[in-house]
Amino acid sequence: MSTKRDYYEVLGLSKSASKEEIKKAYRKLSKQYHPDINKDPDAVDKFKEISEAYEVLSDDQKKAQYDQYGHDAGNQGFGGFGGFGGAGADGFGFEDIFSSFFGGGSTRRRDPNAPRKGDDLQYSMVIDFEDAVFGKETEIEIPKEETCATCNGNGAKPGTSPETCTHCSGTGQVSSVQETAFGRMVNRRACPVCHGTGKIIPEKCPTCHGDGTVKTRKKIKVTIPAGVDDGQQLRVSGQGEPGRNGGPAGDLYIVFRVREHEKFERDGDDIYLEIPLTFPQAALGDEIEVPTVHGKVKLKIPAGTQTGTKFRLKGKGVKNVHGYGVGDQHVIVRITTPKKLTEKQKQLLRDFAEISGDIPEEQGSSLFDKIKRTIKGD
Ligand SMILES: [Zn+2]
Ligand SMILES: [Zn+2]
Repeated sequence: MSTKRDYYEVLGLSKSASKEEIKKAYRKLSKQYHPDINKDPDAVDKFKEISEAYEVLSDDQKKAQYDQYGHDAGNQGFGGFGGFGGAGADGFGFEDIFSSFFGGGSTRRRDPNAPRKGDDLQYSMVIDFEDAVFGKETEIEIPKEETCATCNGNGAKPGTSPETCTHCSGTGQVSSVQETAFGRMVNRRACPVCHGTGKIIPEKCPTCHGDGTVKTRKKIKVTIPAGVDDGQQLRVSGQGEPGRNGGPAGDLYIVFRVREHEKFERDGDDIYLEIPLTFPQAALGDEIEVPTVHGKVKLKIPAGTQTGTKFRLKGKGVKNVHGYGVGDQHVIVRITTPKKLTEKQKQLLRDFAEISGDIPEEQGSSLFDKIKRTIKGD
């Protein structure tokens, strides 16, 4: 039985979706539901569902298995699909709860000795605006668990080995039968002696005290991809928590948080910049130098430029992280009004106002208008 939604449905795709369509759908949805961005309480589950669907459908082998067997493909002996450390990673998923409620209707029992993939880790990495634009090789240090080197992860003191738990015969589960009004109920729960592992360790490893793992801070090289945007994530395969019983390690997901720039504002691959212009520059035209992430660029301001006018500097934006071209830089000009004027400047402006007479019609009457009318004698 399966309570999971179809992976194609999760990504809003048909079964014939191409690799590119799957990628596109995932990118769009993962951005929309990323827990750092979307504060809806359901977003976390939705994000996990999307990530899991993508993990399977983006992998040719897993996709082929899924297309053939559906959600049961994960139980065909391939060690499951993993995902974000949901049911399965902790040993007691839905199946176990289900069987303990309904008297053990399920014949499938989780083998505590079966290899299990390690949990995935998520790391939020704050990076500078320029590093996001151009990419960078860097190193991070993350707290994580590592397989204990002293015991190679089995938790036993070197020279000794774990023994099969006699209380549960190594199954990790114990059953009790109860007579109730509804008939016989078989309750299965984790073995209290071995805590569901199926093993007991008579002499514990001195390094990890029987856990099989030790907490470390691990340095990991990270290549920030050029063009990465705020909220996008990078999967570093095999750098999550270690697997159990010889299972593979989980993955590390690095979520990039891009610091704001004091001048530039980014929207996708485009960059926006506001530039102040003086009234004479805007009225008479000028050639100015504007900063871009690629260095200074000359920009011609035509005579009569209005405040808010947008100029496009083609190709001066961000190189697309997936290699789809380069964005542009948009320069928005703001015409500034001088705050302090000398007596000479004031006089020149008064003269200017007098001879120009172009008070906008919509404005109706202004002090200047009245002055002009008085001068003209209307
Ligand atoms: Zn150890
Ligand atoms: Zn036991």
